[in-house]
Amino acid sequence: MLTYYGEALASYGFGRGHPFGPDRLEAFWREMTRQGLDRKTGLGTPVACTEQELALFHTGEYIARVQHQSKTGEGYLDYGDTPAFPGVYEAGAVVVGSVLNGLKKIIAGACQRVFVPIAGLHHARRDSASGFCVFNDIGVLIEALRKHGIARVAYVDIDAHHGDGVFYSFEDDPDLIFADIHEDGRYLYPGTGAATETGTGKALGTKLNLPMEPGADDAAFHRVWPRVEEFVRAGKPEFIILQAGADSIAGDPITHMQFTPAVHAHATTRLCALADEFCQGRIIATGGGGYNRANLARAWTGVVEAMLAA
Ligand SMILES: [Zn+2]
Repeated sequence: MLTYYGEALASYGFGRGHPFGPDRLEAFWREMTRQGLDRKTGLGTPVACTEQELALFHTGEYIARVQHQSKTGEGYLDYGDTPAFPGVYEAGAVVVGSVLNGLKKIIAGACQRVFVPIAGLHHARRDSASGFCVFNDIGVLIEALRKHGIARVAYVDIDAHHGDGVFYSFEDDPDLIFADIHEDGRYLYPGTGAATETGTGKALGTKLNLPMEPGADDAAFHRVWPRVEEFVRAGKPEFIILQAGADSIAGDPITHMQFTPAVHAHATTRLCALADEFCQGRIIATGGGGYNRANLARAWTGVVEAMLAA
């Protein structure tokens, strides 16, 4: 397996003191080193994607806007959550590029499992930023997979927030199998992801939204998780993507979920097994959200450990 780590990935952050600060990557890596996992995983080098690759998912107009605001470093890229900073275009391109590089390594047969800690920016839309997410690496990855002839993709999201940027971009796409466990939108941003949202048109029934009550714990997770496995299995995917946001763990400063990191390890182990069964072992996991540093360090090292063992 490959874990992506390097200075360039930390450059995607909104400054020290911000919940999405550059110190998130350091917190993860300190724990990797402490557990000796840094010597067990292969290392992937963060790399920027091209503008053409971004355009697989994002509109040209939006890409140009981010490029412009990246030079000035001024203003917001959405309605007030996601500030521009100097170099935001380049930093966002490294997030996407690292995920795409992971895909290239998998396609080339160099590995089957990939983890990119600073990625899983699931709120960005094709034409706008949202919720700390500038470019949606998962959206670009799904489109890139199709370029490689891999159409049937399962996306599983255990971040506390609903993966609205992925959901609405592929809501009418029957080949994107979508399963998302998140805090009920009545209590948390972005307010979407009701159980009644199951896809539209030909894609009806290919999307599974599992909103949880605030305070949902591991027992609540395990009550719904089998439905995710069953759903992925029924979808017969050729590739699996996991968004392993650590903000669903107790003690996160901006959500109300009460999972432990054991949930992230369990989801990874089980999805690796499904990847072996259906996808020639191919799975990419991303770190996603998570704003309590100790939590993200434990959750993400748990993902790496599970991927190494599976
Ligand atoms: Zn989140």
